Amino acid sequence: MLLVGVGGIGCAAASYLASAGVGTLILNDFDRVDASNLGRQFLYGPDDVGNLKAQVAAARLARSNPDVTYQVIDQRLSDDTLRRAVRSANIVLDGSDNFATRFAVNAACVHERRRLVSGSAIRFEGQLAVFGPDYSTSACYQCLYQERDESLESCSGNGVLGPVPGVIGSAMAVETLKSLSGAGTVLQNTLLLYDGGEGRWQSLRINRRAACPACGSATSD
Ligand SMILES: [Zn+2]
Repeated sequence: MLLVGVGGIGCAAASYLASAGVGTLILNDFDRVDASNLGRQFLYGPDDVGNLKAQVAAARLARSNPDVTYQVIDQRLSDDTLRRAVRSANIVLDGSDNFATRFAVNAACVHERRRLVSGSAIRFEGQLAVFGPDYSTSACYQCLYQERDESLESCSGNGVLGPVPGVIGSAMAVETLKSLSGAGTVLQNTLLLYDGGEGRWQSLRINRRAACPACGSATSD
């Protein structure tokens, strides 16, 4: 299991995956703990400010769930090293906070044919979707978002209500555990939208884009 981004979403997803006893959890984040994010990034405390999130998270999770093996990648990944990390995982979770990372993770998942569980949160709203591993039938992240959306908002610029990323990270853990166990029905070609302001969930269909630059040429060979 590879988790990209150990912020508000990643803290929730990692906690549930670790307590479910997934074999190996690879935590990837090159960011450091910031005092202004502690409200939603509950694996960190005031003493951790300035330390690398991935390292602190792994140490904290290991105290509660020592049977899981933790690997830490606390640097920005090149395309090559990202592909290698994705290849080494069964499932990839993306809770990162920017489109450049999201597109790179998506491209690596399409290339390596890995399932991608993707989530994001802003203000009162969150969303999640599951892509792959067969990208000849499944849409990918970039079928949904195109490069020109790059200017979209970030939590640091717009704020987010603390529990909303927790809701999304928890739902991502649900999809991941279903995918691992074969129980239930994993979301497919579906975008789940959570509107915390209205207390409402909505489900939208995602269509594959034939001209998608990431998966457009994926075939079922
Ligand atoms: Zn695509």
